[in-house]
Amino acid sequence: MKALVFNGPKDLRYESFADPKISKDSSLIIQVKNCSICGSDLHMYHGDRIGPFDYSKPMDHFCTGHETIGEVVEVGKAVTAHKVGDRILVAGGSGCGVCKHCRRGELSLCEGGSRGQPAIAYGVSPVLQGGHAEYMEVPFADIGAATIPDGVTDEQAILLTDALGTGYYGVKMANVKPGDSVAVIGQGPVGLMAAEAAMAVGASRVYCIDMQDSRLKLAAKFGGIPLKPDEALQRIKEDTNGLGVDAVVEAVGVGPTLKQATMMLRFGGSMSILGILQKGTELPVRIMQTKCLRVHAGISGIANLWEELIPLVQGGRIKGEGIFTHHFSLSEGAEAFRLFESREDGVIKTLITP
Ligand SMILES: [Zn+2]
Ligand SMILES: [Zn+2]
Repeated sequence: MKALVFNGPKDLRYESFADPKISKDSSLIIQVKNCSICGSDLHMYHGDRIGPFDYSKPMDHFCTGHETIGEVVEVGKAVTAHKVGDRILVAGGSGCGVCKHCRRGELSLCEGGSRGQPAIAYGVSPVLQGGHAEYMEVPFADIGAATIPDGVTDEQAILLTDALGTGYYGVKMANVKPGDSVAVIGQGPVGLMAAEAAMAVGASRVYCIDMQDSRLKLAAKFGGIPLKPDEALQRIKEDTNGLGVDAVVEAVGVGPTLKQATMMLRFGGSMSILGILQKGTELPVRIMQTKCLRVHAGISGIANLWEELIPLVQGGRIKGEGIFTHHFSLSEGAEAFRLFESREDGVIKTLITP
């Protein structure tokens, strides 16, 4: 088959790659319909790290992409939830479904993942090939994939594979309750989805902070209050009698924005960190302690959240409109990455179709 293959930082090539095979009974194979590019893919692109994987070092080539929808073309013997012909969405990372963590509903903590096995994420290492390809194997398919539900568009289904699941997870982990004021730092796709999710669960005000005008414009469309980073803290203090917001979702993951998050929070507030942190990132623990902040940093077990999240999409309370701004064919995948990384042309999120 043809695929977009990681040959090293900034070196993605459209080339031939081995067809996927059913490697375990719980697997199925999809013909990929669409797969988008995630902000976290840029860590790969830049030669940084994602969890245990260090992209500055040589590694075996692999197909990228972890936000995939497609049609089932083959099923393993143990698959019960899917059949050939079903249109499914595949969580960006999944778990085995049977280890201690998975049974507790913590798919992102699957023991397979911590042992470097395929349970972790698609398209970030040679362990599990991604969806920037014509075909993809989906292991543990009963756990980590779902039929695209009625009333959910293909674009929304792709958002449910990661950006929306992760944004919603950030809102949950920041303990957002009805009536709360919320700041979301970073208005890339995950931050935008976190902002829309915060509104869907009843936040009274959602401050959306980013440097880029096109992103702020979209945030305002969702009903968010768009703010540039240099004006955000003052505006939040003015609106909250100097107290700060109840919750912050941090969707960048660098020292300055993490510090900004702690400054914006009220005493006793909560924050969640969604940005993929790099080695040496500083966290202002002294401010966190003085203000008695609750802080969560983690990776979403996407499929765990579908039961609550899909009805919010079906009911029209989360729409995800306007997130996909650019569309490329698989053969143009390298250009899709280049554009996404450059932030040119008002790009928010790019979609790739084999
Ligand atoms: Zn992702
Ligand atoms: Zn597991």
